[in-house]
Amino acid sequence: MLIKTAEIICVGTELLMGQTLNTNSQFLAKEMVSLGIASYHQVVVGDNHERLAEQIKESASRADLIILTGGLGPTTDDITMGVAADVAGKELVFDEESFKNITEYFRKMCRNMPKNNRKQAMLPEGCTILKNNNGTAPGAMFEYSCPTDEDPDRVVHFVLLPGPPSEMSLMFTEQVRPLLEKMSDTKFVTKFVHLFGIGESDAADRISDLIDNQTNPTIAPYAMTGECYFRITQRIEKGEEEKDLITPIIDTMRERFGQCIYEVGDRPLKQVAYDLLLEKGKTVCFAESCTAGMVSSEFVDIPGASQVFMGSVVTYGNKVKSNLLGVSTDVLDNLGAVSRECAQEMAEGARKLLGTDIAVSITGIAGPTGESAAKPVGLVYLAISDENGTEVKEVHLSGNRMRVRRVAVLHAFNMIRMRLS
Ligand code: ATP
Repeated sequence: MLIKTAEIICVGTELLMGQTLNTNSQFLAKEMVSLGIASYHQVVVGDNHERLAEQIKESASRADLIILTGGLGPTTDDITMGVAADVAGKELVFDEESFKNITEYFRKMCRNMPKNNRKQAMLPEGCTILKNNNGTAPGAMFEYSCPTDEDPDRVVHFVLLPGPPSEMSLMFTEQVRPLLEKMSDTKFVTKFVHLFGIGESDAADRISDLIDNQTNPTIAPYAMTGECYFRITQRIEKGEEEKDLITPIIDTMRERFGQCIYEVGDRPLKQVAYDLLLEKGKTVCFAESCTAGMVSSEFVDIPGASQVFMGSVVTYGNKVKSNLLGVSTDVLDNLGAVSRECAQEMAEGARKLLGTDIAVSITGIAGPTGESAAKPVGLVYLAISDENGTEVKEVHLSGNRMRVRRVAVLHAFNMIRMRLS
């Protein structure tokens, strides 16, 4: 039977209370997209027998596939296997092989197996057992007969996976995904368009005609700190001609957003800056005041950063700005450390000091203190200097101290992108 729709149910009171971030949902939702299985609902349910049973029945009434994660442990509050089996009208039976695997897991970990772990070998009769290669709880896959008036033979597939993300993702990728691939007849193609220098609502406004008229592909805007992106998803039914409906939308976006689009794909802004530096054979350094090393730290997250990144200076105090980078006391005394001129001299000084092709400087007022009428919190100057000269940019950033600094970091990467692209 073909699977067209799925619902993800994550079980655990810790998720409901916000103690644990629900990364399982995110992982599984992405997997559903790549499998071409539509997902219209995601649910979190606490460790409560009645509410979980109610939710499973509701989800089963509208989706072909129900994926449950969590609650497969050995303790009394781990109820998922029992509740799902109950809803499907299946008995839990002891599985010798799974019990051996659990025992072996404890032996390898040099730990005594508590008695209650035997419970994890109790699995729904006739299920496909999913071996846990990363922990104790086996998963299970089984069918639930759920007839409707239109379809008396309707069957819903249940997949039960453990809660710990490392166990869940491995089990899904190795054992569940290959089975689901054979059961889907729709494909989804998704592209992401990343923008910098424009807010989410402004961006959505500029393409509201495209968003309002969408059916296939669908277009959705998302906001992130200091940037935003659009997801464009095209649905292709099996056997249907694979016509590319996404590229014309991206072309329209390029016309409307111009240089604000920094990536059509998955690369973050810093990676785009890095790739351009590498492609052009340029080296870079940073002179950081208000970001105090954040730009450099973020940049070296990229493997291979050393091919283009030579080093940086954190010049927080005025004395260090003048002693290390040669910022003139005239500028510091009369215009201040947060000024166009200071940013310019910082970048030029850093380029000379560190001998790189390009230097980027950042100086600003991150707040909450230190502002004046002329220089409010969020005022940041950035400069980029290379053999063609120095360009300074003034930006006004909103939010708290951390946000101002984080967005300033993005501006630094964006300046490299703009200079090299
Ligand atoms: P265990 O055998 O470890 O008890 P389990 O299948 O019973 O596994 P839970 O007890 O529900 O799973 O969760 C175990 C841990 O896995 C949680 O403490 C949490 O850290 C993590 N976890 C559970 N569900 C999720 C989720 N949806 N997203 C991210 N982490 C999760």
